[in-house]
Amino acid sequence: MQRRTLLKLFSGGLLSLAALPLIQASKAFALEKFAILNLSKDEWKKRLTPAQYNILREEGTERPYTSALLDEHREGTFSCVGCDLPLFLSSTKFDSGTGWPSFFDAIEGHLGTKIDRTLFQTRTEYHCAKCGGHHGHVFDDGPAPTGLRYCNNGIALKFIPKDNG
Ligand SMILES: [Zn+2]
Repeated sequence: MQRRTLLKLFSGGLLSLAALPLIQASKAFALEKFAILNLSKDEWKKRLTPAQYNILREEGTERPYTSALLDEHREGTFSCVGCDLPLFLSSTKFDSGTGWPSFFDAIEGHLGTKIDRTLFQTRTEYHCAKCGGHHGHVFDDGPAPTGLRYCNNGIALKFIPKDNG
């Protein structure tokens, strides 16, 4: 009898553990699972245009006011052009006046950061968490509610309008 009760408890525990990831995944888009994309230099060169390669793989910076995405105001998602991972939602985009597409928040878990000490200053570089591609720098002079400004190279992003989904 006692043994049966224990078994019952055990199977009940397993069930609730199995249901947990489903409940969490439905809560937030950010918990999407993705595999790390690891390509060689040559594979990246085939996959990207020279301008995209310069930004994503060599940490280049596009000239300001050159991105068509500055005028993109539709509802949708801004994804990494290297691997399609969604990085920013249109609801977090704002006009920073810098000439680069800017966002006050990123999709949780989809960016990695590192300290960049080039150009005689310390900045926080960020990159796509899936393919490692460089996207831009994040500053702490952004608007509410985060106070952050993700300054992104437009060449590194592609916009997916919500209607297409
Ligand atoms: Zn990527």
